[in-house]
Amino acid sequence: MQKLLQGLQHYQTTVFGSQRELFERLSEGQTPEVLFITCSDSRINPNLLTQTEPGELFILRNAGNLVPPYGALHGGEAATIEFAVAGLGVKDIIVCGHSHCGAMKGLLAPPAQTDFPALSQWLHHAESTRRIVRDKYAHLGDAALLNVATQENVLMQMENLRTHPVVASGLSQGKVKLHGWVYKIETGEVFGYDPQICQFKVLTEQRASLSLPERQFMALEI
Ligand SMILES: [Zn+2]
Repeated sequence: MQKLLQGLQHYQTTVFGSQRELFERLSEGQTPEVLFITCSDSRINPNLLTQTEPGELFILRNAGNLVPPYGALHGGEAATIEFAVAGLGVKDIIVCGHSHCGAMKGLLAPPAQTDFPALSQWLHHAESTRRIVRDKYAHLGDAALLNVATQENVLMQMENLRTHPVVASGLSQGKVKLHGWVYKIETGEVFGYDPQICQFKVLTEQRASLSLPERQFMALEI
């Protein structure tokens, strides 16, 4: 906690001044163009990863970057999505999973329900992912299974997004686009789902040539 208090002090005395104009402008309102849905995992920093400033990403985070289907749960996810699309008019929605995701590990090897009753219930929103992985990829080893689960989960949560009326309406009018990403913590790479080839592929060309083995490993035929 002490580190955070020191950080606040540093922010207020050193950092804020250099961005005062930005924050004064932002105090009048926000106009983010992207809703970024990702995991609560402490190793992901959406603004660092995308080199964006405050005010540019509307961020929704939870364990496993899950999007309960519309009507399944009157929780914060539906309200956040509704406000982002209908209130702020975001143009793009990104569902970003990540490597070494604890929620995906928990999905593949569920913890004792008595220890994590809320988490166990929450992961039901990824039951389709678990089922697909179990039925389709049973031949894979643990590490590959985790990668596959992470990618399949991003795709399933994109499907769930489409059940939200504001998203369905935005998609039908061409006002909103959905994107599926997977962030690889150990290389900094981001893989995006390409519906043309039904695979995730690295989004940054320069790094692609440097990390072909990882790219092939992450790629998934669906
Ligand atoms: Zn995670």
